[in-house]
Amino acid sequence: MDLLELIVEYHKDSERQGPGSVETTLKALSYIPHLNEKTKIIDIGCGTGGQTITLAKNTVSQITAIDLLPQFLEKLTKKAEENNLKDRITVKEMSMDRLTFEEESFDVIWSEGAIYNIGFENGLSLWRKYLKNNGYIAVSEISWLTDNRPEEIESYWANEYSEIDTIKNKLSVIKRCGYNNVAHFILDSRCWMENYYHPLLEKAEDFLKKYNYAPDAKKFIEEFIIEADMYDRFKNYYSYVFYIAEKR
Ligand code: SAH
Repeated sequence: MDLLELIVEYHKDSERQGPGSVETTLKALSYIPHLNEKTKIIDIGCGTGGQTITLAKNTVSQITAIDLLPQFLEKLTKKAEENNLKDRITVKEMSMDRLTFEEESFDVIWSEGAIYNIGFENGLSLWRKYLKNNGYIAVSEISWLTDNRPEEIESYWANEYSEIDTIKNKLSVIKRCGYNNVAHFILDSRCWMENYYHPLLEKAEDFLKKYNYAPDAKKFIEEFIIEADMYDRFKNYYSYVFYIAEKR
């Protein structure tokens, strides 16, 4: 059984595949001026499209949503149909490190809980050319909230995502990649617990049963439980942070 299959099966029926909330998406959106019918937004690593639907419902703009996993995109397509938003949401299977759009195609780049897949700095650099001049980027990225952390959480994240860094250093990376920082804010624990970990942890037992407690499935769930426990114990030290910046 491969890991990708487990990821798809565990996550495809969820509203979100990472920490976040409707309120968070709307708050980030509030920093982006002049959104109109002609505005083109790309949602990168959209997953099953929780934030895509929020963006579509709260703007009049055109949205292209891309993700690597077709099973997630199917869910988004269904949601777009159910919400009568099909005319403004275009769904495409594509890898975020090999976007096939023309340069300067978009006014806004959106990406929640996904840029880490190719690295924050790499993603910001790669994506910049697809933004029009003075276009905006709104991206959430896991960040340290304090200058010092307990060794246990420090080494956990060094292993899981070594690019995790302080907000101050993330803001420098954004600047270095050719954007001016506009705003940033920290996602609260509801975004992680109520909206992400809790609904998934509730499904863990049924999921294991479905796979007959196969070792790969058990390992997958165990790692997820450890991640959730780390957050529970060390949430004062890290969170997702939403960064909003303008192309310079
Ligand atoms: N934005 C969604 C999903 C976040 S999870 C939410 O917040 O709920 C990260 C997403 O990135 C997953 O849907 C995963 O399939 C996608 N992903 C991972 N690697 C990718 C890649 N190379 N290109 C495009 N999408 C990728």
